[in-house]
Amino acid sequence: MKMSRLYAPTLKEDPAEAELASHKLLLRAGMIRKGASGLYSYLPLAWRSILKIERIIREEMDAIGAQEMQVPILTDGELWRQSGRWGVYGPELMRLKDRHEREFALGPTHEESFTDLVRNELRSYKQLPVTLYQIQDKFRDELRPRFGLMRSREFIMKDGYSFSADEESMRQCYQEEKEAYARIAERCGVRALPVVADSGQIGGDSSVEFMALADAGEAELVYCDDCGFAADVEAATAKVHVTEGAEGELERVHTPGAGSIADVSALLGVEQSGTRKALALVDGEGNPVVCFVPGDHDMNDVKAEHAFGAYHLMTDEELEQYGLVKGFIGPVGLPQGIRVCADESLRESTWWLVGANEADYHFVHAKRGRDFQIANDAWVDVVTAKPGDLCPKCGRPLKGARGIEMGQVFQLGTKYSEAMGATFADVDGHEQPLQMGCYGIGVSRTVAAVVEQHHDDNGIIWPVSVAPYEVEVIPLSIGDDVVWPVAEQVADGLAKEGVEVVLDDRKERPGVKFNDADLMGFPYQVVCGKKAVKNGNVEVKDRATGERSELPISEVVATLA
Ligand code: ATP
Ligand code: MG
Ligand code: MG
Ligand code: MG
Repeated sequence: MKMSRLYAPTLKEDPAEAELASHKLLLRAGMIRKGASGLYSYLPLAWRSILKIERIIREEMDAIGAQEMQVPILTDGELWRQSGRWGVYGPELMRLKDRHEREFALGPTHEESFTDLVRNELRSYKQLPVTLYQIQDKFRDELRPRFGLMRSREFIMKDGYSFSADEESMRQCYQEEKEAYARIAERCGVRALPVVADSGQIGGDSSVEFMALADAGEAELVYCDDCGFAADVEAATAKVHVTEGAEGELERVHTPGAGSIADVSALLGVEQSGTRKALALVDGEGNPVVCFVPGDHDMNDVKAEHAFGAYHLMTDEELEQYGLVKGFIGPVGLPQGIRVCADESLRESTWWLVGANEADYHFVHAKRGRDFQIANDAWVDVVTAKPGDLCPKCGRPLKGARGIEMGQVFQLGTKYSEAMGATFADVDGHEQPLQMGCYGIGVSRTVAAVVEQHHDDNGIIWPVSVAPYEVEVIPLSIGDDVVWPVAEQVADGLAKEGVEVVLDDRKERPGVKFNDADLMGFPYQVVCGKKAVKNGNVEVKDRATGERSELPISEVVATLA
């Protein structure tokens, strides 16, 4: 590829709208461009990285016997009604109507579509298990699209679904996906920790998030280098009994995959505002809808003994009592719902949002005592979470880090198959609901995660496995009849060996070429300067280490190929 032909419009200045390194650098290197809020074009360089990530995903999926296919992006509203998600998904679901006023949604995920697909065709235990996946654009009307590819409204996801005859087989499929996800992260050059998002009924985990370690990550983590333990600082478990159907305003809302206050607020379509210590979920008018109250405790200093469960809808009096306009958000949360906060005096307060016993549901406006009890043996059982705390598994000190959610795997059980009537005949001929798992990994977000982990002040430092090109050949003067033929010869030689190479054939000053090369971040630069070439050499720069070495022109192709 000739640099003069490459469509990669670079920017000299940091774009004002970008805060994160990945966002800035992908824009500056001419890899992405914004169309509208949360909508990005992937320019040729980004697209090449995306294709490489997809290839890695495909190879790992093929290796575990998952089969690639595609379902339509546009999904029938009727399917979402059948699963029960139409009413509860909230404003994140992009809904639209066709000319006949029939309702559709642009798929944010495709449990419904895949369950519908197999429900009349996977009829016998003999056909199971089956794992299907696709790599496709997803749509989510995120409350706050931001950080470039990190949180966009249209993004590329690999989503997979397994269908099994029994729980054991489902767990097996889940385990295989989990292991494949770890390999995918590693092969993409991403250091990611599998963080338990949800503990299963009988030990083990039923959902794990793959968190790419990066300061820019939204999640706060603790982890242990020695034994591999990793947890969200907000992870905790609590026992709550909810009596459904009690009188009052108890309202059950679906909060699929909600792992944080941010998730729940997004799903409920309410805003978060405030600081780390003071944060509430407010409605469009700015009224607190759900608040979280840590009282006087520093959020980093919350212990199980003074923590208690639930979101709390603060009354005006309480807001006043705490000197708040919008309320607080508390420190510790549960993937499945209940949140933990720190002030004893509020235990008797009135309105709460609590986790339903069923995964992925919350009740809002629940009243303690009337609608639910908290088991007295455990207000909460907090997975304490401060760097320096001792690892609950091996007793060594935990480290702290922030993480980007790169992927997540779930054991779904029969949630969708029961709701949508996807059954099969077991060995005895009895109809049983399919046992499902679902597995998502963000392809475009992975590009951002790679850049977060691999950059310096000058630009991106691509790992070879996902680099748009592997080598850039930089002749320092293209008019020179000593330098130019050597540069061309090296570039051609590399290309013949199957190395992806860009030749900077532009009539630019060396400084400009060096800057662009560092910014775009291809792993190796072959610098062809007059003096070296006259001595029969070129200089190879390793972008990651900055190391430069002179190599004979005759050896450079063999060395880099
Ligand atoms: P988050 O907690 O960041 O909102 P999520 O838990 O809602 O993510 P999942 O439903 O688990 O996301 O989807 C699987 C994967 O899709 C995520 O792990 C992430 O890599 C990617 N993803 C989700 N939302 C977005 C988005 N808005 N932009 C880019 N990638 C996304
Ligand atoms: Mg999440
Ligand atoms: Mg989300
Ligand atoms: Mg998730």
